[in-house]
Amino acid sequence: MNTDLATNLERVHARITAAAARAGRDPTDVLLVPVTKTVSDEVVRAAYALGLRVFGENRVQEAQAKAVALADLPDVHWHLVGHLQRNKAKTAADLFALIQSIDSVRLAQALSQRATEAGRTVPVLLEVNVAGESTKYGLELAQVRQVAPDIMALPGLAIQGLMTVAPLTDDPEVVRPVFRQLRDLRDELRAAHEQPPHTWHHLSMGMTDDFAVAIEEGATMVRIGRAIFGERF
Ligand SMILES: *Cc1c(COP(=O)(O)O)cnc(C)c1O
Repeated sequence: MNTDLATNLERVHARITAAAARAGRDPTDVLLVPVTKTVSDEVVRAAYALGLRVFGENRVQEAQAKAVALADLPDVHWHLVGHLQRNKAKTAADLFALIQSIDSVRLAQALSQRATEAGRTVPVLLEVNVAGESTKYGLELAQVRQVAPDIMALPGLAIQGLMTVAPLTDDPEVVRPVFRQLRDLRDELRAAHEQPPHTWHHLSMGMTDDFAVAIEEGATMVRIGRAIFGERF
């Protein structure tokens, strides 16, 4: 398992480097966020031993259990990449180094309240449902422009950028325009709204099947599960 993990990780790093090179980008500007949902504590430990320090989870409870089991490992940063329910805002505000999935103003308000009570600033990304799929969480493109000032005005949150989950397809070229639209939106919002603590810097886009295209289109974070840890069962 560990040899597979090391090999997979090397391959992913090589593909990130190659995609960045094609776009004339510095590969160190792309943060790999390995997604460890359904992966055992033991395998996350092995990934840590290979040098990984950031891990993405899509459920608060699973992340919390892993954080407890791996509490002896220094310098681990958990990212939430899945939908957050408002009643879990407190746990999430305490646990995550980055919440990538802010998909409503009401969720942002709940998180702002918890962060303020804890005397903390919680870094967040706004999740955008670029293709307007009814099955997906996320703010629609036009909605993001509309609510950005409201969310920015909430204390205790720092907007670090945008996140999207592209439509499921076998053809990466179908998702390229989706990534391009997210980048254009990030550029627009950054130009209009960049001011501390809001950087509007990050573009979290690209998963196992489409991360190379996402990097070509400007991704600063790629969230990768299966290419590193194998298929989920
Ligand atoms: C599971 C998941 C990923 C990783 O998906 P893979 O296809 O396994 O790389 C990325 N982002 C989100 C939001 C996820 O839920």
